[in-house]
Amino acid sequence: MLHPELIALQHLTHSLLEEKGIQVAVLRLDQIHPLVSGNKFFKLKYNLEEAKRQGKKTILTFGGAFSNHIYATASGAQLAGFHSVGIIRGKDSDQNNPTLAHAQKMGMQLHFVDRESYRNKNSSEFLEDLKAQFGDFYLIPEGGTNELAIQGTKEIPGDQAHDFTHLCVCVGTGGTFAGIASSLKNHQNLIGFSSLKGEFIHQETANLLESNQIHAAGSFEIKTDYHFGGYGKHKPELIEFITWFYGEFEIPLDPIYTGKMAFGIWDLIKKDHFHPGSKILLIHTGGLQGNAGFATQTGINLPIL
Ligand SMILES: *Cc1c(COP(=O)(O)O)cnc(C)c1O
Repeated sequence: MLHPELIALQHLTHSLLEEKGIQVAVLRLDQIHPLVSGNKFFKLKYNLEEAKRQGKKTILTFGGAFSNHIYATASGAQLAGFHSVGIIRGKDSDQNNPTLAHAQKMGMQLHFVDRESYRNKNSSEFLEDLKAQFGDFYLIPEGGTNELAIQGTKEIPGDQAHDFTHLCVCVGTGGTFAGIASSLKNHQNLIGFSSLKGEFIHQETANLLESNQIHAAGSFEIKTDYHFGGYGKHKPELIEFITWFYGEFEIPLDPIYTGKMAFGIWDLIKKDHFHPGSKILLIHTGGLQGNAGFATQTGINLPIL
């Protein structure tokens, strides 16, 4: 059904890297599939297989109006032959925004709920209501993180990652981070860059590692200094950086996740956080579909693909 071929690895050339004696390459998960791109491909893979095994006809999930997860789940469900339902946060969300327009084109049935009901989305009462309304379904949580998602994200680094001393990835729920942590070699360091404001993410990822019985061979940490005001927030320096990065390397980034991570990596390189000889793998988790919605909301046009 969905198979990523060998994922492209793009080596960056820049005077700063030469000066610091550091290598950086980008693992282009954003290119693996036109509709189910980035880390979402890996998070969905075994969930769709499991839904099929259980004989389910419908996939139901949750997300915000510009969510990469909604976009990818709608696409993946259709490609795998499922009907899909998206429970969208906010009664006032624009159902014609680029993300939701695409989801509907992929056959996803949208159901808008107010923010308060959305907060209670995991209550048994709310789920019973959904069953009454949409019939039987296979549930994928908001952000897509569950055990099978983590099983999928373990496959992200692959053989190509062996040579690197540092693996860098964006962190939302931490599901992708956890999967990659389980694939680390003992000489490797994993650095997560949180897109959310706050220190709670350290505990949340620790819980994910524990509940999935992941004992990382290498070391890992999460940087919480590069959220630019919080999830979905941005600042002019971030936009300038994304534009600069594209001009320099022809690699598009998104302002929610990958732009913040790449900014963080570049900043840490400048501050000599990495020893000379370090080989850094920047894992591009995709998210570029969101750039269209970002443009309609802010008037800022970021590079797409
Ligand atoms: C969803 C997403 C993430 C976050 O993944 P988690 O597994 O929730 O941490 C990171 N980058 C992009 C582009 C995403 O769409």
